Amino acid sequence: MTNENYSIAHIAVAVPELQSALQNIEKVLGLKAGGPIEEVADQKVKLQFVDIGGVRFEFLEPTSTDSPISKFIDKRGGGIHHVAIRVKDIDAKLAELKAKGVALIDEKARIGAEGCKIAFLHPKACGGILVELVQE
Ligand code: ZN
Repeated sequence: MTNENYSIAHIAVAVPELQSALQNIEKVLGLKAGGPIEEVADQKVKLQFVDIGGVRFEFLEPTSTDSPISKFIDKRGGGIHHVAIRVKDIDAKLAELKAKGVALIDEKARIGAEGCKIAFLHPKACGGILVELVQE
């Protein structure tokens, strides 16, 4: 069975400092970041994407000590933060999940990186994985 209505939009990695993290993965694996550094004020992060064979990694650096990414780094020292899944109609998907009683962090979509509509599910909804829905 394939889940053709879904695909991975990106895998996000929390880092204390974007520039040195990107320099490190270039040094270790030869991977180069693409595109500009973007700041998402709403989530208190700046970020850059790295494409690895068609899978995008979103490197996130907190811009404030009260950023959710700061708290994650304080607790765990960084690492994989969330998995973003592309959906065609995020408002319909959120309504469907809410009706099913799924634990949501965002009951309404907001604007994330690259101007996409995004919403986070609670990690307890997906076996401890923080899932972000993305409508491009
Ligand atoms: Zn993301």
